[in-house]
Amino acid sequence: MDFTQRKKESQNNKIKDLANFIAGDFIYNSSIDLDRLVNEESIMLHYDHYEKSFDGLLIYDKSNFFIHLDIDSGNFKDSKRSRFSIAHELGHYFIPEHHQAIINGTFPLHPSRFNPCQRNEIEDQADIFASTLLMPGSIFKEACYRQKFSLKLIDELSERFKVSKLSTFLRFTDIDAGTYPVMIFFFQNGFLNWFKASDDFPFRNVPFKSKIGNPPPPTSAIGEFYLKNESKFKDVQLVYADDWFWVNSTMKLNEQCFYSEYGYDISVIWPD
Ligand SMILES: [Zn+2]
Repeated sequence: MDFTQRKKESQNNKIKDLANFIAGDFIYNSSIDLDRLVNEESIMLHYDHYEKSFDGLLIYDKSNFFIHLDIDSGNFKDSKRSRFSIAHELGHYFIPEHHQAIINGTFPLHPSRFNPCQRNEIEDQADIFASTLLMPGSIFKEACYRQKFSLKLIDELSERFKVSKLSTFLRFTDIDAGTYPVMIFFFQNGFLNWFKASDDFPFRNVPFKSKIGNPPPPTSAIGEFYLKNESKFKDVQLVYADDWFWVNSTMKLNEQCFYSEYGYDISVIWPD
């Protein structure tokens, strides 16, 4: 790992520590009470119709902070999406460098949009904060303790922490909360859109048999569904490492597909 990566990782770890610390004071019925947190910080929430131009927007008017939420993007009160959007804006509010830049007027005013493959560092930091705040590391791990990785578990966690299934899947790629070595592939209309592996996933540095913008490997479970138009695999499938990766290994991997109704599908793989 080079210096820039190490610096980035250490910054991200500080952000996770901060979010885990703040979350500790606002856990209510095993999820984070965002309303109380926002109230205590005297931040005003506004839900309004902004015609899908953003999810959330943090504004400072020289004395008060406001978070605007776009109902048209699904950010109505208490929706899972709005909780993530609020937590993201709270990231900009709590991360010291962001906060100071907002007060100084040097922080670019930006409407935030949920985008799991974002490359923008500031947005990435706010997402790391949000995901940790909503699913604090220790509580998340405790909720997964002795449970097999499954869609049922994802459903339970998504309900318990009041976050989307996609955010729940992503939380597993973070060693701070992940209790399984996993790799996640996200397909939009049949083509790979992004992927993410946990630090402890055994093939994380091995090239895999697809690329961004390409279909999945033909012998993967998700590939069989797309390419052969076979029925959806709802249960965990056993595949081999070389179904997915350019590797000479007979290691077995579990593959669980998640088919959404919104044009995207997810495939999660993890060692047997
Ligand atoms: Zn943002």
